[in-house]
Amino acid sequence: MADGITGVVHLDPQAGEKVRGAAAGLGTDNSLDEIKRPELMEARRTGDIALVHSWELVTSVDGPGTRMTMFMSGCPLRCQYCHNPDTMEMKVGTLERIEDVVKRIKRYKPIFKASGGGLTISGGEPLFQIAFTRRVLKEVHDAGIHTTIDTSGFLGSRLRDEDLENIDLVLLDVKSGDEETYKLVTRRELQPTIDFGDRLSAMGKPVWIRFVVVPGLTDSPENVRNVAEIVGRWSNNVERIEVLPFHNMGADKWHELGYPYTLEDTKPPKPEDIEAIRDVFRAKGFTVY
Ligand code: SF4
Repeated sequence: MADGITGVVHLDPQAGEKVRGAAAGLGTDNSLDEIKRPELMEARRTGDIALVHSWELVTSVDGPGTRMTMFMSGCPLRCQYCHNPDTMEMKVGTLERIEDVVKRIKRYKPIFKASGGGLTISGGEPLFQIAFTRRVLKEVHDAGIHTTIDTSGFLGSRLRDEDLENIDLVLLDVKSGDEETYKLVTRRELQPTIDFGDRLSAMGKPVWIRFVVVPGLTDSPENVRNVAEIVGRWSNNVERIEVLPFHNMGADKWHELGYPYTLEDTKPPKPEDIEAIRDVFRAKGFTVY
């Protein structure tokens, strides 16, 4: 399933009508309910159809202005603190057709215009179902709407240079500053994120960095210094850094899914500790929130 195409879509039977209704949300054309598996796989390969976890209309997060955030299903990482563990596997969501999604987003254009906002594709990992994400970005960007992706960067190499032209802002998570801690936090490697960040820096693409402070996991002075070192390489294009305190509001979802939640006893960091970490980034000349 690593390619985000060939995974089997298990619609959670417990979600009952909701998910069935969602799958029917392929459109008002009822014949689509009977789409055959090979057709579905082909449609996902071409990006005609994708599994979308959920939507949100938000202000002041996920980019400038009022954002329509589309959360995609599927993620190759397994972050211990993930707030949306139900997006990790391609299990839950709505099968959506690209034309419906693009139409829905374009309807909000006046709101985006008035607020300086736009579309944010998040997840899960927006680059997991790359064919669909690529096409949505192009169509929405061509319509004059500001576009953002919210990514770990692990799959950044899936974006071609011409795809990046359709992205106005990248929200890039740097989850740790060294390979060992990164692997502990995410079960994956750090290097692809650094490579992606280097590429974005070389092309001068606007980036907001996010770093989640988890006591006992990512908050050691050494790790913070290492994250600051990495981000320091990108001072030409990083517009802001968001240092976000861990909270365990995602715990219930882990329990519901029956996944082992490792941060049960971890408390949120103290505000003064967060400020001290922000100061490390400020000392490098960054705007930090
Ligand atoms: S990258 Fe995001 S969606 Fe994926 S596991 Fe980590 S926190 Fe969850």
